[in-house]
Amino acid sequence: MPRHLPLHDRPGLLRLVGAALVVTCLVALAAGCGGTQLGAGSLDDSSPTAMAPGGQGEGDWSNSPRTADSSLPNGYLDSQVTSQATTSTPQAPTSTTSTTVATPWQQTIGLSIEGRPIELYTLGSGSWRVLVIGGIHGDEYGANVARAFVGYLGQHPDAVPEEAFLQVIPNANPDGEAAGTRGNANGVDINRNFPSQNWQSKLNAKDRPTSGLTGGASPGSEPETKVLLSILANGWDIVISLHSSGGIIDPDGEGGLTIAERMSALCGMPVSGLDYQSYITGSLGVYMPECCQVPVITVELESRDITDGIRDALLAALTGE
Ligand SMILES: [Zn+2]
Repeated sequence: MPRHLPLHDRPGLLRLVGAALVVTCLVALAAGCGGTQLGAGSLDDSSPTAMAPGGQGEGDWSNSPRTADSSLPNGYLDSQVTSQATTSTPQAPTSTTSTTVATPWQQTIGLSIEGRPIELYTLGSGSWRVLVIGGIHGDEYGANVARAFVGYLGQHPDAVPEEAFLQVIPNANPDGEAAGTRGNANGVDINRNFPSQNWQSKLNAKDRPTSGLTGGASPGSEPETKVLLSILANGWDIVISLHSSGGIIDPDGEGGLTIAERMSALCGMPVSGLDYQSYITGSLGVYMPECCQVPVITVELESRDITDGIRDALLAALTGE
């Protein structure tokens, strides 16, 4: 169950500048510049090393649903999400030189309330489908660590197992990160806005103190939530959500515990939960097991920088055994 302990390392200007630099680096990485020769047509649909899975066309490459939308409740996503989550043409590097460096395939999958892009990176083309989401809470470490993870994989493509299909949304709440706030620009806690059965607009008094945040006007009301739901509908074996800073790994849903234990052994953070777990409403950790029988691993990071242990733990989730 996602839970979010107080973040003591408040951001400030230095952090924002740092985040901007990281974003710039990632953009440069995806654009095939910045001194690293990138993927020689590796992102072309026709290339045998293309990152796009399943040989699908550009328009739908990211949506290779194994379970389609059949598991979604009440047609919710069909009617409300897919029409609003815009998908741009993937921004493939245009480099023509040959290299062994794989480029995380990057695309903009939607916009925040204030118009900031929400990005999706794709690596691998296997059958074990892993989605990593960072930054749902804008004042936490998740986005920074997720960006670092994508950057690492760009530099070490062999680290992605053959069996893995990995997508990463490094920053699900870019407005929150820009403002240094937990919620989005509407004052909504995105991780209380998912359309689970227990969703409620007014958060439970025993939930983490939320500084006036709400669960939204309706389930899935927020633009950022809709973007996430559009990707979550694509069929996953495991979803990993990066938060901070509780220092635990918290599985929800059947099958999550085994992976959480494997991750725990590598990063040293215990598999655990918090005592107010039962009061959390509308969270990703409630929604995905409920709607889609997909386990969610909430990682409560202790460091804004990715550590070897966290990186190894994330890599360990890229295999199904
Ligand atoms: Zn959080």
